[in-house]
Amino acid sequence: MTDTETLAERILAGDRRALARAVTLVESTRADHRAEATALMEALRGAGRQALRIGLSGTPGVGKSTFIEAFGMMLTGQGLRVAVLAVDPSSARSGGSILGDKTRMERLSREKAAFIRPSPAAAQLGGVARRTREAVALCEAAGFDVVLIETVGVGQSETMVAQMCDLFVLLLAPAGGDELQGVKRGIMEMADLILVNKADGDLRGAATRTVADYAGALRLLRRRLQDPQGFPKALPVSAATGAGLEGAWDEMRALADWRRGQGWWERTRADQASHWFREEVREGLLRRLAEPGIRAEMAARAEAVARGEIGAEAAAAEMLARLRD
Ligand code: GDP
Repeated sequence: MTDTETLAERILAGDRRALARAVTLVESTRADHRAEATALMEALRGAGRQALRIGLSGTPGVGKSTFIEAFGMMLTGQGLRVAVLAVDPSSARSGGSILGDKTRMERLSREKAAFIRPSPAAAQLGGVARRTREAVALCEAAGFDVVLIETVGVGQSETMVAQMCDLFVLLLAPAGGDELQGVKRGIMEMADLILVNKADGDLRGAATRTVADYAGALRLLRRRLQDPQGFPKALPVSAATGAGLEGAWDEMRALADWRRGQGWWERTRADQASHWFREEVREGLLRRLAEPGIRAEMAARAEAVARGEIGAEAAAAEMLARLRD
């Protein structure tokens, strides 16, 4: 058996250490690691295991880690296996991952039925997308029932995560006034479920008002074909007390079941796979353009065009022919 086959077997057996090793492998940009990762992903694909993939977004401080800890503990308490992956494209700039601190979910990280993986200090969004996608697929192969993919609510990463999820949940805090907290409309449009967290103690009234505001705003959005009556929804929850978490989970399951029944589940996953195929090719070509030799040739041709020695189109045709070699 090759190393890849052994690793694949251990992942399929649900071995968390093997899973962690495989995630490290898919995070690597080394060419030999990449080839191994691709072989591993292909070996696992045949198993055809699926988890419920839930994207969870919210700005820092809204209570994501508290929510994931409580929600995750609730799910493991029901006998489900839960994986948590963080996406944080900004971590390259800040030098460390905002979502990287495992101690944020101390109880859940000690659970045998849980797997928590912080965001690596990755480079560009493209690399993060592939790493996350492959990590999700690895968790599915390892038999996890639910995969939570956490993002920080800054925009670009949400769009990316929505393209690899079955459900998208937006976590918000109770608002003081009646403003919609500057939530980008695009992000709101992606949400299947808006959970207004911290609906407890002094904040309960504000949370109820915020839920009503968002419920109103959601009603103004056109209902998507892949939504049953009543969705997208806004609900109050308290990650701190656990109030509303069971209800939120019921809504998520009801939506997922409906989409399965209507054929949306498989169709959306198929569309997502095609989307990522196109993205991979596009990014591969961009990477090729960034190779030093190719960059130098591009620069030389651009100068030749500037000097009037050759037309832009002819130079581009030459360059494209060169890339085909
Ligand atoms: P994150 O930055 O989104 O991961 O937010 P955290 O989970 O770290 O929570 C930020 C702050 O909000 C912490 O002080 C939490 O204790 C608090 N918090 C989180 N959830 C709740 C909740 O349901 N109710 C209340 N009252 N506070 C909460």
